Amino acid sequence: MIAYLPTIYPDELVYSWFCRYYVHTGCFSHKMALQELYCKKSDYLSKEFIGNLNKEAMEQIDKIYSLDKLVLDHTMFPQYARFIPLAEKKEALYRLAHDSCDAHHLFPVLPRNDGEQYLRYCPLCVKEDRKTYGEVYWHRKHQIRNMRICTKHKCRLMESSVPAKSEQSFTFCPAESYTYDGEAVFENDSLAIQYMEYLVSVFESVMDFESDIPISSILYDGMSRTKYLKPSGRSRYTKMLAEDINKFYENMGVCSIVSVYQIQKILLRSLSEFFAICQIAFFLGMKPEELTAPSLTAEQIKQEQDSHYMRNTAPVDWDLLDRETAPVLEKFAKAVYDGTANENGRPERVSEKLVYREMNLLGHQLENMPRCKAIFEKYTESYPETWARKIIWAYRKLEEEGKPFYWTDIRKISGVKKKNLLEIVPYLKEHADADMDERIKELIEF
Ligand SMILES: [Zn+2]
Repeated sequence: MIAYLPTIYPDELVYSWFCRYYVHTGCFSHKMALQELYCKKSDYLSKEFIGNLNKEAMEQIDKIYSLDKLVLDHTMFPQYARFIPLAEKKEALYRLAHDSCDAHHLFPVLPRNDGEQYLRYCPLCVKEDRKTYGEVYWHRKHQIRNMRICTKHKCRLMESSVPAKSEQSFTFCPAESYTYDGEAVFENDSLAIQYMEYLVSVFESVMDFESDIPISSILYDGMSRTKYLKPSGRSRYTKMLAEDINKFYENMGVCSIVSVYQIQKILLRSLSEFFAICQIAFFLGMKPEELTAPSLTAEQIKQEQDSHYMRNTAPVDWDLLDRETAPVLEKFAKAVYDGTANENGRPERVSEKLVYREMNLLGHQLENMPRCKAIFEKYTESYPETWARKIIWAYRKLEEEGKPFYWTDIRKISGVKKKNLLEIVPYLKEHADADMDERIKELIEF
């Protein structure tokens, strides 16, 4: 049971908030406070996200702040998920807020460079926070990859001794005990300040959960106004772009500069790294809004997409590919859905990611294949619905074995967590007959 939760401050990391909770409640030990918040003994404190909260903590927190809003406004989600495809972005938000999913399964989290290993702070913000709030907290903005200035005070950020990696932490390190209001070193490189302000402005802008414009198309559009794209639109001068970007940033003191390999991957839609995309876009002279609220037409997106294939003789015949792929996809999706594709026979969710991987498609290409898209949509379902089907499958399997069984047996073979049960109930009757629906509910005590 959480005794009392302090108010969360603007731009404060959830981790920082939990640290203050620990201090304010006067918990005797880290272990005790961890137990009040998390599920298992092995759960570590997540620095950049929320972590594996237990059901009670989740409910209590959700009463004060919506969990979606916490993820959006108080974790590093707007950095890591900003440029991933729409379907993955929605899934990531849901799973971070409601399923306590490990962020590493949802989007790439690149290894840290020197200068990004520890939580950072601004000595002047420390002074200000103490004056305004009576205590110091860890700011989200200061932790953005590649960030080395406090854009509010135009001074260099300091590195604390608290590792930024979540995996290493079982202890609360409140900013109050790990920061100093020492001498501020002001930045006088105006270009560096502009770049850092650019990062903050992209990071802080509202995230778009409506349109699905690939970042490769947005950058292609930006490049079309420069010498890095041939007027025909067919060739990108990636190597020249990478060399010029390197020269542009090399004296700025940033801890990493996007490589030619990373640029290629971004333009081919297989990398969505925040700092790298911002570096390219800022260099190309693109406005932050072009990244965060793009206004490309379907024609412009298609143009970029087609440009990938022009080098290999004929353009792709999407209609033919769609017709040929549809029966294969139908078979595959059905087998995943009903479990015949799995070694243990357990039904699984047909996710967009899985379909793209199996069909060997690049991001967004399903849009060009209406038959395949319809098949995918036919099998699309929410997580609670998949969980319900897994539970029913497990129930039937155990019933067939003919021995007495309990809820824990169902949980073990279905892999569904206890805290998710409430969401499953409405879907049970859709996939089981009334009789079985009742028996399952009785067993899981609903
Ligand atoms: Zn500051």
